[in-house]
Amino acid sequence: METWEVVIVGGGAAGLLAASRAAERGRRTLLLEKKKRPGAKILMSGGTRCNITHALDAQGIVAEFANQGSFLYSALAALSPEALIDLIEAEGVETKIEPTGKIFPASDRADDVLAALLARLKRSGCTLASDEEVQSIERDEDRGRDVLRVETSQRTLLAEKLILTTGGQSYPSSGSTGDGYRWAAELGHTIVPPRPALVPITSPARWVLDLQGITLPDVIVRVLDSNLPSPATMSRLSSGRGTGGEGGLQSSAVSTAPLCLAERRGSLLFTHFGVSGPAALDVSRAISGHPKPSRLVLSCDLLPDERPQALEASFQEACRTAGRRLIPSILAGYLPQRIADAVAAQAGIETHRRAAEVTRKERQNVVARLKQFDIPIGGTLGFNKAEVTAGGVSREQIDSHTMQSRLIPGLFFAGEIIDIDGPIGGYNFQAAFSTGWLAGESV
Ligand SMILES: Cc1cc2nc3c(=O)[nH]c(=O)nc-3n(C[C@H](O)[C@H](O)[C@H](O)COP(=O)(O)OP(=O)(O)OC[C@H]3O[C@@H](n4cnc5c(N)ncnc54)[C@H](O)[C@@H]3O)c2cc1C
Repeated sequence: METWEVVIVGGGAAGLLAASRAAERGRRTLLLEKKKRPGAKILMSGGTRCNITHALDAQGIVAEFANQGSFLYSALAALSPEALIDLIEAEGVETKIEPTGKIFPASDRADDVLAALLARLKRSGCTLASDEEVQSIERDEDRGRDVLRVETSQRTLLAEKLILTTGGQSYPSSGSTGDGYRWAAELGHTIVPPRPALVPITSPARWVLDLQGITLPDVIVRVLDSNLPSPATMSRLSSGRGTGGEGGLQSSAVSTAPLCLAERRGSLLFTHFGVSGPAALDVSRAISGHPKPSRLVLSCDLLPDERPQALEASFQEACRTAGRRLIPSILAGYLPQRIADAVAAQAGIETHRRAAEVTRKERQNVVARLKQFDIPIGGTLGFNKAEVTAGGVSREQIDSHTMQSRLIPGLFFAGEIIDIDGPIGGYNFQAAFSTGWLAGESV
């Protein structure tokens, strides 16, 4: 039976770098990819422009992964954002930093990034077997040594070391169908339930869908769960300072302070199904991971730089100097007209009301709605339209210094198959490239 020193399963961002690195280090390496060509997600990424990484140092990248970030220290030490850029530029692909900090190939062509990675892979001496699907992975023994036995659509082979880089299960048409989760679980690993992340959000409200085509470049969005009290409310209640004053959970207090499950500032885009754009995508994992998304609300601060008091003063002044104008028309001085109409409606102001007629209370309602414009949530568009998968192989069962399983010696993980997912901005590729590189260094 064929035996390889290193077998890598999955030719995405993580697998390509893991394979190059292992082969460059002199290991007899085989990369198995089930699609006809590796790197499908690299080609479709960033609107086919490929947002490779972000203009931050390793510490900055770690911070963007919040509580998952510490898992990435060693991987980013092995391949930092600067080292990743050097690696791609060394293949003749120039890169550029956009004002947002996102880094793309200067050509805006994802093909160039994939071509660079394939050129390096070819030089490394790794054998690439495309159009060959792995069907099972099991523990075995070969002349007294532990190995992994790999069944593919074409052959059976033995691997002294095996790196699983099959990705998550989003955009399954790209080849990432979650196969690796099954094998990892069969080999004893815990799989944190996979769920869609960086995915557009749906709304059941007709008035939201009517706003399609509008982009708000700078808002703060919050996913609020009105059925749960905030931690502050909980501690007030348990310390006897709830509305009832006597301690214990008071249902009236519970409903007044919704729990904020996620918050992000950025641009928001209204679509024919709900909302998308970076701010919506970045908070979407809180919705897809929720048992009852329809009870959530996406609450938007439409004017995040304006303090409520200053906003109220400016709105009052605008109403005073243009008393004959309709309220939505005054609000259009702050926002696109159709959003202004929706704000007035949420504030309970009828469309024919003139500025001079509104009461102080009504003005306050309008300002409150500018700072908290509520969009009802239905759910998300699911794995078919998710840029990444949250969840995956538990980080606790992987040694982050090497990417080796803590349960099965010789088995390594890299990329999105691991329970790690970052925000929009090139962070997910950086994590995949760095963990792939470190795994290739460690086999
Ligand atoms: C539309 C879209 C746009 C994106 N844009 C960006 C972006 O601009 N910047 C960014 O940082 N991230 C972006 N992402 C996320 C990024 O693509 C992923 O985080 C990254 O590709 C993960 O790399 P990976 O190598 O772990 O997995 P993948 O890229 O998913 O690769 C897994 C590979 O394993 C192969 N495979 C699976 N099962 C088997 C099997 N049984 N046998 C053999 N091979 C198998 C698959 O065919 C695939 O080639 C985007 C994702 C999508 C869907």
